[in-house]
Amino acid sequence: MIYLCEDCHYLFRSSEPAERCPDCGKIHIRPANEKEQKEFWSYQKEFHPELLAANH
Ligand SMILES: [Zn+2]
Repeated sequence: MIYLCEDCHYLFRSSEPAERCPDCGKIHIRPANEKEQKEFWSYQKEFHPELLAANH
């Protein structure tokens, strides 16, 4: 599941329900919508291709 922090707009992936943002530590997070999930994956492909390989 992909989440978005509404405070710092950090997008992150978590296999368990997340309660706080791993970046700023605030609890204003919500599941990312479809557009934001696409942003997350395009960011991963561009900057962290090794993480994608490890997660599959
Ligand atoms: Zn945050």
